[in-house]
Amino acid sequence: MTAVAADRFPTQLIIGGEQMDAASGERFSVVNPATEDELAPVAKAGVADVDRAVKSARETFESAKWRNMSARQRGALCYRLGELVHQHRDELARLETQNNGKPIFESLIDAKLTSETFKYYGGWADKIHGETIPVDGPFLNFTLREPIGVIGAIVPWNFPMSLATWKLAPALACGNTIVLKPAELTPYTAIRLAELALEAGFPPGAFNCIPGPGSVAGSALVKHPGVDKIAFTGSTEVGRQIMMDAAGTLKKIQLELGGKSPNVVFADADLDAAARGALNGIFYGKGEVCAAGSRLLVEEPVREELMGKILERAKKMVAGDPLNPKTRLGSVVSRKQMDRVLGYIEKGKSEGAMLRHGGERTPVNDKGYFVSPTIFDSVERGMTIAQEEIFGPVLAVMSFEGGVEGASDLANSTIYGLAAGIWTKDIKKALRAAKAIQAGTVWINTYNMYDAASPFGGFKQSGFGRDLGVHALDGYMQVKSVWVDLS
Ligand code: NAP
Ligand code: MG
Repeated sequence: MTAVAADRFPTQLIIGGEQMDAASGERFSVVNPATEDELAPVAKAGVADVDRAVKSARETFESAKWRNMSARQRGALCYRLGELVHQHRDELARLETQNNGKPIFESLIDAKLTSETFKYYGGWADKIHGETIPVDGPFLNFTLREPIGVIGAIVPWNFPMSLATWKLAPALACGNTIVLKPAELTPYTAIRLAELALEAGFPPGAFNCIPGPGSVAGSALVKHPGVDKIAFTGSTEVGRQIMMDAAGTLKKIQLELGGKSPNVVFADADLDAAARGALNGIFYGKGEVCAAGSRLLVEEPVREELMGKILERAKKMVAGDPLNPKTRLGSVVSRKQMDRVLGYIEKGKSEGAMLRHGGERTPVNDKGYFVSPTIFDSVERGMTIAQEEIFGPVLAVMSFEGGVEGASDLANSTIYGLAAGIWTKDIKKALRAAKAIQAGTVWINTYNMYDAASPFGGFKQSGFGRDLGVHALDGYMQVKSVWVDLS
């Protein structure tokens, strides 16, 4: 696919329906990680811009236009935005690929999920209602489900448009207004979504977008007294900081954090399917996927056989130009992230894991932060690469004995609990393992499946609250109990 020209990149803040520069006039540079070229510089939101954006979101939240808009009409706006995303999917996907380094084939999938998520929540808007409750005494008691207010959404760089939408769509459908802070590394599709929302007919100020550094714009948003809730996706470390910073104003928070998800292969599994699933689990999105199946737990008797199949497939995975529709492995998002991933690979070697494949930087046309698909064998549960989230194309293969119990004991041996995969032909075994493994999502004989209707979120230190599905709606509404004396 052809690249989006530099002068077609959206680069301004969107506040109160207006495109604008930062109050300071400053801009920050953004890089295409696959080519190392600089892209269009973007307005850099600072504390004053956060304040402007929050005030605008508050004004709109309290405006008659937004308050009196019928739920059905809000739903129609969300649906229309979903349609606009679909119409602009090629442009959005190219922006995402040029900015993040992921293959265009993946960005088109992101655009599809983004469009579907807006449409899904558009459908919910007029189906959200309270209940009547049979209380004691001569009273009518009923509940109202009301929006929370101004939502601050802070998202990472790995799935910029779809993860932003996982917050935006349910929040807007429920009648909140939003200030979105995308990651500094990947601002473009977020700005474009804010522009498309205006085109769809959302009132100015319903959806504001303020790209800028997390330590400044993100932090100011979390501490701002005018923000009612922070919906965050990102690292466990920053999640912890947000929890502390939100304490000052007792803000509601929802955190979707990191993972070290186990992909568990029992000896009776279809090993070809499991090998495919293992590779998809860790190399999709260059491993920069919060739910990446970064630990492959294999039942001892089939360890070598499965490893053979995995290595055979991994050898065919070659990084390429992310804009080429045939490319299946793109560039890591930044030089810093590449160095971090290569650092973990060195750590794996020095701690005694056996490097079976990859482990290097592999530029394409002498450029880019590409890292080859990396596979470590003989990984022990105490090793750094078995415990810490690498967020790159690095698979740690470990073996287990002791059936479901042995598997779940090893699977549960990290601080995380985001997702898990289970491979077996025995349905009872699969369901026993699904119950025993602590994770917010379990995939049986598949991996990395998502749908706007299915909830996603973490157990343990992978966070709390749920994105997607009916469950996400609870995060963007509050319940009011109303009593009426009938005596
Ligand atoms: P990150 O460093 O935690 O950043 C996430 C967002 O938080 C970015 O927009 C960042 O801004 C902002 N931020 C940084 N410091 C902040 C602060 N003090 N206050 C407020 N905001 C702040 O994560 P990342 O490096 O972008 O992404 C990788 C991580 O995200 C991984 O650990 C991964 O597991 C996790 N993740 C989780 C999920 C999930 O659904 N559970 C999904 C995707 C990713 P800047 O980047 O502009 O500084
Ligand atoms: Mg970061």
